[in-house]
Amino acid sequence: MKINVVKNVLEANDARATENRKKLDDAGVWCVNITSAPGSGKTTLLEKTIPALNDEGLKSTVIVGDLQTTRDAERLGGLAVEVTQINTEGGCHLNASQVAAALAGLDLRGLDYLFIENIGNMVCPAGFDLGEHARVAMLSTPEGDDKAAKYNTLFQPADAIVLNKIDLTEALSYDKTRLFDDLKKINTAAPVFELSCRTGEGFDAWLGWLRAKQTR
Ligand code: MG
Ligand code: ZN
Repeated sequence: MKINVVKNVLEANDARATENRKKLDDAGVWCVNITSAPGSGKTTLLEKTIPALNDEGLKSTVIVGDLQTTRDAERLGGLAVEVTQINTEGGCHLNASQVAAALAGLDLRGLDYLFIENIGNMVCPAGFDLGEHARVAMLSTPEGDDKAAKYNTLFQPADAIVLNKIDLTEALSYDKTRLFDDLKKINTAAPVFELSCRTGEGFDAWLGWLRAKQTR
């Protein structure tokens, strides 16, 4: 019966995630769950994305997951309408109940986007629906060109894939064809946005994708 315990945990998470999504749908807020290893640039991506959306009159709120500290929330504090930090105190992924608790404290009226920055981890965040509308799997060139194949469970269900730090491609001898060959076997539906948060290269396509998703 041990297997039922695990199943129930995931079923309870799915039920809560469905409630979260309903709440966001009712408010017209489109939600992205961003997953990656630590250091891929999730917070930096949001630091660049949220002001660009602000310039178009599109408002964002952010839920940031970290084991400890409010450093990422502080970085995003002046940009989003509100930033909610979830400290998991060792927990290696966010779950739908934590997001529900964060949502309970948020005024969603007038917002267009909720960005959830998941815990930096390429394994278990893939297994937990948070109530998002789309999941982004992110990676960056310094991590090596073999990561999509090694962590295929993160990339297989992704609705979009972001390859960050493409300004370092040459310096790192990053083999993009290797990544794309792997993705052909893992996920051919998700668009891949090759960009650099540092130089801004590739950002227009990413912003265009986000803009097209918010149809209010
Ligand atoms: Mg971060
Ligand atoms: Zn975990």
